[in-house]
Amino acid sequence: MTAEVLPPPAVTPERTTLAAGETVALTVTVTWTTNWVIGTPGWVWVKDSASSPDPVVVQGCGQTTSWSYRVYGSGHAEVRGIVAEGHIPLTGVGPHIQVTPPQFKVTAAPASIAGAQAVTFTAAVTPSTVTWSLSSWTWRPDSGTGGISPNGCTPAEKVCTRTISLSGWMKATTVIGQYTLTDSAHVRVIPCPTGDSIADLQETRAALSDALQASNVSGPNFQGRIERAGMLLRNLQTGGVEVVRFDNLYADWCASNDDIAYNSGTHRLLAIFHTHPYSPKAGDIVPYCNKLEIDPNTGFLRPVQPPAIVPFGNVGAGGSDPDWNLLNALNQQLLAVGQPAVDEYVIDLDNIMRLNHGQQPAYTSIGYNACPNWLR
Ligand SMILES: [Zn+2]
Repeated sequence: MTAEVLPPPAVTPERTTLAAGETVALTVTVTWTTNWVIGTPGWVWVKDSASSPDPVVVQGCGQTTSWSYRVYGSGHAEVRGIVAEGHIPLTGVGPHIQVTPPQFKVTAAPASIAGAQAVTFTAAVTPSTVTWSLSSWTWRPDSGTGGISPNGCTPAEKVCTRTISLSGWMKATTVIGQYTLTDSAHVRVIPCPTGDSIADLQETRAALSDALQASNVSGPNFQGRIERAGMLLRNLQTGGVEVVRFDNLYADWCASNDDIAYNSGTHRLLAIFHTHPYSPKAGDIVPYCNKLEIDPNTGFLRPVQPPAIVPFGNVGAGGSDPDWNLLNALNQQLLAVGQPAVDEYVIDLDNIMRLNHGQQPAYTSIGYNACPNWLR
């Protein structure tokens, strides 16, 4: 006598990883006979955790061989009560399906305004195939009350446009299964917004202003003025913006050094910046610069000893070749580790020049002097 081991029914999901609130379609097949039916109880979703919310049946009823669930927690599907050849009881057990939390994002556009203006807030869930609804919107001005009209946003609006007249935060909340997700977007009312999300940060303006002042810009001769440089970081834990200056490194009236080192696990680089402590519009000429070399011990620039100086000429507008070389080398390193490229901001007495990453020699000139309160 021989016994044949018959394969069990196959329960096959279209995929085994999805976000809470997404729908998964499954089919059940029996390969060794066409004579089979699904009895009771039929399709069953087995949750990993009893406390996770029950799935919702989207498609399927009775003895259908395909079935769809909208799921909110990890688990697997089973088809119980199958009867083959009129008398052989079978159960099909599907593979484990991993359910992850969806991503929730709130954005504001425009994020910087000069005064009372319409701002559109958008709440979105990724992946977009998740079924979800908004629980709430909450507007909180940075100080005082009000600042939104004619009324607050309502949960019926995933895209909400209101007139905003104060700086503040708009927060939204959604509940998807066991996940309560919140995100917020900041709107700032500032003089002369540039539309550049980095340049429009209060911290960026203060950092550029402070660096220019620290350059001794009103010094009567250029040798008394010192380029100041630094970087802007986003603290990923607090959400705040932090400024690091490189004042301890070599700098003179026409060159500065950089030490762009930070913990990429806790901080994200937003931008680098330095000053040009003179006025191109006034025709300022920096007559000579120190000739620089790399210090083999530190890797940083230092003046050649004995002092050697080279003509520099009219400083003009836009970054120097070393400015562009630094930015391009930095962005190659960032892109190699999957981080977004950054811009470099150069402030002189007339303008802020944004050296646009990857677009040498394109730069955007921001005429902050035409807007007296730009740096406030
Ligand atoms: Zn420069």
